[in-house]
Parts: sequence; structure tokens; C-alpha cells
Amino acid sequence: MPEFSRAVLETLRQPVETGEVVVARANAHVRYPCGFMLVAAANPCRCGYLCDPGRACSKAPACGEDYMSRISGPLMDRFDLRVEVPPVAYADLDLPTPPDGSAEVAARVSAARSIQSARFAGIDGVRVNADADGELLGSIATPDEAGRALLAQIAGRFGLSARGYHRVLRVARTIADLDGSDGVSRIHIAEAVGFRLAIGGMDAPAQPRAATAASAASQIRAV
Ligand SMILES: [Zn+2]
Repeated sequence: MPEFSRAVLETLRQPVETGEVVVARANAHVRYPCGFMLVAAANPCRCGYLCDPGRACSKAPACGEDYMSRISGPLMDRFDLRVEVPPVAYADLDLPTPPDGSAEVAARVSAARSIQSARFAGIDGVRVNADADGELLGSIATPDEAGRALLAQIAGRFGLSARGYHRVLRVARTIADLDGSDGVSRIHIAEAVGFRLAIGGMDAPAQPRAATAASAASQIRAV
């Protein structure tokens, strides 16, 4: 993703948020529908070896910081799930296949989508949790007391933006659906927040990135 120019990346912000592309010219203003899921990948730094102990990047950590800073904070804020994928060691290639294959995962996703279809039946323009906003989001995703306390603690400590707060609620609601749980609880909030902290920290981290992530990870484990 950071290989694209910053100007190109920034144009994604509006359509990701509103599901529309607006083309404005002197005598015309046209809106095109544009609902999509943005999936992006990036190397950890320009040379790609920042996290590889076998071929350590000679310019670490500046190489990684410069490279990832091409993705602006507001754009990174719009990614709900951030997952770090470490290099696979040769020893791991021999490990047994995980019990959950694609078919099992697909069945869980399908069940969660059915729950959401039933939840939003009869509401115009809302099919899944990702479409829910405002009062509707509050009514379906307000966590229990322990979840609210955790979210308030993390929001205060890591500078969670208003957009980030609502996105955490949506992701937590979906995690609860995958879990078959009626309510959103602390464990669902913790997992949703963990996805935001995995790479790049929160929107305006008050501490250096490594310290932020380590401290957040210990909070999540403490749940
Ligand atoms: Zn590098």
C-alpha cells in the first residue's frame, strides 16, 4: 500500500467513509455509488526485512517508520482490522493443519451474516453491522458495563477518535455475532480494540509506538 503516492491514497478516505465517489467539475457535481471493502497489504519497511531476525534491516527502525508514515493517520483510522503477519519459519511449515479449515470458517461467517440479516430486516439501506450508524449502532452494540469501562479506559489512554470508537463498536458487535452472543461484552471489546492496536497504534499515540503496543497488549491479556 505505501508504494502508492500519498495523494492517491488520500482519495480513498471519502469513498471508504460514505460509500460514494463525488466528481466535482465547474458545471457538474456527480455522485457515483461506491460501496466496497478495502483490503490492503504492506511490507513492514521499504526493504521488507524489518521484522526478519535472519536478515535484519540495516536502517531499522527509521526504515519502517518512514515507510509506514506514507499512510496518513486518518486513512489508517479507517481500517477496522489490522493484522501483523510475521514471516513463516521453516520449522513451522511442518506443523499440523489447524482444525478450522476454510469451510468451517465460512460456516461461522454465514451464520453471523444470517443473524445480521434478521437483525436489520425491514430497515432500509442497512444489511450488516458495517452499515449501522448513530442510534441504531448504539442500540445493537452498546457493551455491558465491564465492556464500557474497558473502552473508556482505552479511549482515554490511547486517544481513540470518535470514528475509531464507533468502528470498535461495530467490530465488537460482529465478533459477538461470530460468538453467537446476544450482547457485546468486555471480551468482544478487547478483541476489537486489539485489531486496532496491532499495527500503527491508535490515532494519536501519546507514547512511542512500541511502548503503546506493548502496553495495550498487556491490557488485552489482562482481560
Ligand atoms: Zn528496511
